[in-house]
Amino acid sequence: MQAFDSSSEQVARKIVVLGTGGTIAGLAAAAGDNLGYQAAQVGIAQLLQGVSSGSVDAIQTEQVAQIDSKDMDASVWRALAMRCAHWLADDSVQGIVITHGTDTLEETAYFLHATLAPAKPVVLTCAMRPANAAMPDGPQNLRDAMAVASTAGARGVLAVCAGVVHGAPDVRKVHAYRLDAFGSGDAGPIGYVEEGALRQVRDWPQAARACAPRQWPVTPEAWARVEIVTSHAGAGGALVQALVRDGVQGLVVAATGNGSVHHALEAALHQAQAAGVRVLRTSRCDQGRVMGAAAGALPHAGPLSPVKARIQLMLELMA
Ligand code: ASP
Repeated sequence: MQAFDSSSEQVARKIVVLGTGGTIAGLAAAAGDNLGYQAAQVGIAQLLQGVSSGSVDAIQTEQVAQIDSKDMDASVWRALAMRCAHWLADDSVQGIVITHGTDTLEETAYFLHATLAPAKPVVLTCAMRPANAAMPDGPQNLRDAMAVASTAGARGVLAVCAGVVHGAPDVRKVHAYRLDAFGSGDAGPIGYVEEGALRQVRDWPQAARACAPRQWPVTPEAWARVEIVTSHAGAGGALVQALVRDGVQGLVVAATGNGSVHHALEAALHQAQAAGVRVLRTSRCDQGRVMGAAAGALPHAGPLSPVKARIQLMLELMA
C-alpha cells in the first residue's frame, strides 16, 4: 500500500476510504468479548493499518463521522453524500469504500443509491465483531471491499460483508449475530469476493434517479419528517393520529403480508392521507414485494422495505 501523495498526478487506482464508525471501529474492554464493546472508537487511518490493499495503488482516508450507526441521522447522511459526490467527481478516484455500522448500513446504502446514482463503485463495509476481538471480521471485510472498489467496471452503491457483495436496493441486515449478517432476498447477491477477486453473478444496481446532495438542510430536524408505523394484531389508529397532530409529513406502514393493514390502522391512515400526509404501504415480511392493490387501497412502495421506503418518501417530499 502506498500512502496518498497529493502531488502525484494521474494515480491509476486511487481508493478513498471514508470512516463513519460502527462495530468495525469498536473496542471491547476484553479481547474475547464480542458483545460488550463500544462502537466507533478507532480512527479510519488506524483501521487500515495492517489491511493488505491488494492491487490498489493509493489510498486516501477521511473520517466523516465516528458513531454507532444505530444513531445515524440525516446530518451524517448529508455530510457523507457530499464527500462521496466530491470524490466521485475526481478523475483520479476509482472508487470509494465506506466503513459503517451494520445496524443502519442498508439505509445509508439506499440513501446514497437514491441520491448519488454513482457510475463508480461506492462500497459500504462493516463488521459484526469489534476491532480488538480475538478473531475480528473487519479487516477481511475491509480488504474485500477494497477489492470490489478497485474492480474494473464496478459501479453503483454496494455492500460487502463476509465475502458477499450486495446491491443497495436489495441489501438487508438479516441476522443479529452471525458474521454473514446480510441478505439480498429474492434478488440474490451481486457476487462474491474470493481470494481478492470478484466473482460477479448479476448486474450492478441500477439507480432510479439522482438529486444533488447540497440542496438538503444541515439540521436533521429541517428534513421532511417521515415515520414508520407497524400493522399487527390489535393495531389501532392512535399512533397515527398523534403523529398527524405532531406535524408528520409522511407515513410508511410496515404492513402484513402483501401490504394488508389492520382495519383500525388503515382508517387512520386514510384520514391522515386526506389531511395531506403522504402514506406508503410496505410489507413487514423480509422477502417479496407488495403487488397489486384493491380499489381505494393506500399507495404502496413495491419492493422497498419499510426503512428504504421511508428514505424514498423523505427525498420525494424534499425534491
Ligand atoms: N451498533 C453497531 C452499529 O451499527 C452494530 C454494528 O456495527 O455491527 O454501529
